[in-house]
Amino acid sequence: MPRPIYAEIDLDALRHNLNVLRERAEGRTVWAVVKANAYGHGLENAVKAFEAADGLATIDLCDAERARRCGWKKRILLLEGFFDETDIEPLQTIGVETVIHSPWQIEILKRMNPKDVRCHIKVNSGMNRLGFLPVEVNTVYDQLTALKGVRVMGVVTHFANAEPSYLGDAPASVGKQLTRMGRLANGETAACMANSAGILWHPEVGGNAVRAGVALYGISPDAHISSEELGLIPAMTLCAKIIAVQQIAPGEAVGYGSRWIAKRPSRIAVVACGYADGYPRSMPDGAPVWVEGQIAPLAGAVSMDMLEIDVTDIPAATLGSTVELWGKHLPVNRVASACGTIGYELICALARRVPINVKSA
Ligand SMILES: *Cc1c(COP(=O)(O)O)cnc(C)c1O
Repeated sequence: MPRPIYAEIDLDALRHNLNVLRERAEGRTVWAVVKANAYGHGLENAVKAFEAADGLATIDLCDAERARRCGWKKRILLLEGFFDETDIEPLQTIGVETVIHSPWQIEILKRMNPKDVRCHIKVNSGMNRLGFLPVEVNTVYDQLTALKGVRVMGVVTHFANAEPSYLGDAPASVGKQLTRMGRLANGETAACMANSAGILWHPEVGGNAVRAGVALYGISPDAHISSEELGLIPAMTLCAKIIAVQQIAPGEAVGYGSRWIAKRPSRIAVVACGYADGYPRSMPDGAPVWVEGQIAPLAGAVSMDMLEIDVTDIPAATLGSTVELWGKHLPVNRVASACGTIGYELICALARRVPINVKSA
């Protein structure tokens, strides 16, 4: 018998979200970003649901291999490129395109003299994470195209702040990053710049391709804007059951560290989900949990395999009730903000021990 916990992955929601993003991409090539096991949704599920995408983008060659094994025939892009020279052979046999972000990668290409490697030049337009400065791009382009088996497909860059709740004019606004890109943003070389937030909120970004990540999974890249407003459907719903109920007196404490103390006679429900399932231990008392159509507050520290909620005011919540930790009824961004993080982190951290139920009409 499996534990009474599961993550439901809704393939139709993934398909729907891809359609929404495709429309917003207005004819640009759509890379579906499937890193981190498709943001926790399972790479194999993503390969199936994102059939209509133009390519898959990830950071791990193993993902590329897995995608090919389950039948993905279209393009695949490595967002951080290759990591050492042993990657060059598999790049070619699996047929994977690579980002080039640093001089050491060019040195490896020179040394290995590959037959057919397709490259995207990464430009650092202000995030200061990966990439060459815009002024260096011409030289990099010449160095790469001087190698017989190397083709340059275009340039890529990444925005640090494409969400609308990012206010003002700090060093790396989309506008400033575009200015730094200059003619690279819409010159004759193809440009791939927008992430989900860029696609949704910055039509001025342009380029010939986009990289859609979190929004494909039905999650708003900006916690202040709901998925609903964007027409997106959350594809992951994490559920677990109530496996015990405690009736406790005022002054009694719940859980490790006795953090939560009853102020009144209280009904406490024990839920079969803990931090080893990916539910953050840093979650504070009062964090929202959905049960029987209502929101119950978390009560006490999350344990490895269980957590407790206060269901004193929700009589329908009882032994065997299904609890939603995040998903269709309870936006993961709302849960994440209760412990100071973002929805991305919670979905990616879904633990392998959680059984996945795939749903498709
Ligand atoms: C993860 C990632 C994306 C996707 O970002 P979202 O915010 O999830 O849309 C796009 N580009 C790069 C380089 C990434 O690493």
